[in-house]
Amino acid sequence: MLDIKNLTAHYGAAQALFGIDLNIEGGQTVALVGANGAGKSTLLKCIMGLETPSGGTITLNGKDITRGTPARMVRLGVSLSPEGREVFSDLSVYENLQLGAIPLNLSTIEETKRIEEVYERFPKLSERKDQQAGTLSGGEQQMLAMGRALMAKPSLLLLDEPSLGLAPLIMDDIFAIIRQLARSGTTILLVEQNAARALSASDKAYLLANGKIIEQGKSSRLLNDPVLRAAFLGAASDENPAASRLGAAGLTNIRLEKPLMHTHDFMPSFKDEGELKLHQLEGLKWTVAHAYEGSAHYREKFDQTGIKPHSINSLEDIQKLPFTTAEDLRTGYPFPLRSVPYEQIVRVHASSGTTGKRKVLCYTQKDLDDWTGFFARCYQMAGITQLDRVQVAVGYGVWTAGMGFQLGCEKIGALAVPIGPGNIDMQIQFLLDFQSTVFCSTASMALLMAEEIHQRGIADKINVQKIIYGSERSSRSMRQKISDLFGGAELFDITGLTELYGPGTGIECSDHDCIHYWGDYYILEILDPETLQPVPDGEWGEMVVTTLCKEGAPLIRYRTRDITRIIPGPCTCGSILPRHSRIRGRSDDTIKFRGVNIYPSGIDTILSAVPGLGSEYQIHLNRDEAERDHMKLVVERAEGVDGSRSPELIHEVSHQVKKQLLVSVQTELVDYGSLPRSERKSQRVFDNRIQDEIV
Ligand code: ZN
Repeated sequence: MLDIKNLTAHYGAAQALFGIDLNIEGGQTVALVGANGAGKSTLLKCIMGLETPSGGTITLNGKDITRGTPARMVRLGVSLSPEGREVFSDLSVYENLQLGAIPLNLSTIEETKRIEEVYERFPKLSERKDQQAGTLSGGEQQMLAMGRALMAKPSLLLLDEPSLGLAPLIMDDIFAIIRQLARSGTTILLVEQNAARALSASDKAYLLANGKIIEQGKSSRLLNDPVLRAAFLGAASDENPAASRLGAAGLTNIRLEKPLMHTHDFMPSFKDEGELKLHQLEGLKWTVAHAYEGSAHYREKFDQTGIKPHSINSLEDIQKLPFTTAEDLRTGYPFPLRSVPYEQIVRVHASSGTTGKRKVLCYTQKDLDDWTGFFARCYQMAGITQLDRVQVAVGYGVWTAGMGFQLGCEKIGALAVPIGPGNIDMQIQFLLDFQSTVFCSTASMALLMAEEIHQRGIADKINVQKIIYGSERSSRSMRQKISDLFGGAELFDITGLTELYGPGTGIECSDHDCIHYWGDYYILEILDPETLQPVPDGEWGEMVVTTLCKEGAPLIRYRTRDITRIIPGPCTCGSILPRHSRIRGRSDDTIKFRGVNIYPSGIDTILSAVPGLGSEYQIHLNRDEAERDHMKLVVERAEGVDGSRSPELIHEVSHQVKKQLLVSVQTELVDYGSLPRSERKSQRVFDNRIQDEIV
């Protein structure tokens, strides 16, 4: 939308801007962060036509606007809410608002309509409409300045230092309004000295110092960048030359709210793969000895295979160890893996096992502390800070989910709203009243909420920027839909299982193409589920985990049944934590169909790529009298897609399934919203082939 190239500006002989390149795409909120005097306001003035640049170009939607006038810029859809508000003190609130639309020559009817819209967004201004602007509080004057800029219905809104001089509580209100504006589709260039606030509220940011752009990138990344954090926190020193460089560039003059940044770093201390492997070997040795000494179950298994604690001398020796399975947990119910005396156990959790006995796990205080710490790491990786309000809509109780999300949230210092799953009306009410910024749930529940938000038309009144979801596979189209209906929220897939502490053992990073997992707490092997031999990095297989410091119930080569693959090499996000793909399915819910193994995720992928289809579907498997298997897909059309397109869509689905999975399917399309939704895991596979198995 806005493209600035090599822009320079001078005040007399003094140069204020040096070759600025900056780009804003439609719908983005972009922050321009820098200290007082860095050149931020000059840049805004150049865009708005209030200053004339000495070189370079500014284009808006492809049109050259380098030497525009303020009135022309307003007509082109650019409005400025200036630094220091600049409201006219002697004029009323109403008259100040009228001024915002002067260049547009609106009819009285249109002008009145727009003023009403501003009042709707800022009810405070409506209450004070006849009052002189000079008698308003700082926060109200800021609202008036923003309201005045909105009178022109800008497609690009320039906000110059909206939080300057405001109390923190009022700042919260102003930033909530900025996010709501962004959600309703306004593109925003936000200029701020307050780095933490600006980075939390934007998609992308540029850091400006002494008239030059010195850093740029995704805001969530910059917020987590250790060098920048050190600079923001004023830690520049001889030991930290990078921070000194930023300090010399003027960055440490940025106005700071220290408590708003992470005060602790939950990332691991190892520096490279070699250090991680040493740490893992120590942990493996400790775990084997601990389990052998503490657990009759493990000792018996080790003795059967001739393993003694001293048998472990390298990481490869892990392959000598016997596997642990869900069956071991069930047959030894309730505490088969317990490896410490009862008096050291401080808590138990259980899985929501659907068949037979539940899997029960026990924890020492250290186990809980470790879990809490690495769950905080998940939040940190997702860019969540003390500014966030986290609505935890996963199950509380004997399950691990709610407790994990809760403790991690408190550890990182964010505000937790422990609502639990279900209760859609209360969920919506809290999203509106508390302005929760993060929503945690299963994927099914997130979809249910997304549709509810859409139905009630409140996407621009809520404030959810991030959704952390887990425990269930999700298709690309489902993710996209959840994000869209939530007003553009960013999704993070979180992994974990009760046996391995609980949720939070890994999370998707802000680059969204992998899960980083906590290799300093467990070793992850990927094995062929049939042969149980390791597969090469990059190939799909079953995830098998071994804990490194878990006391209460250590896991040794525990078969998770989750199908994933290692992604080798470093991540573009800069984290050195190892990574795997998002979970593709479970090795025991592979569909065996006419001799072909099909992962339900394969169907996800195919349906996601066909435009016009919704994200809900069911797979029905049946067997005819001749003992032949048949697969039927029942798929929803996307919202608003007419039934007349069904034949064409059916053809495309059947064609793609045949082409990619080599099987023939019958496809049935149904109306959007007609398949059942659930706040827990939705059942998608209905295998009706074997009716007599129980006999
Ligand atoms: Zn990453």
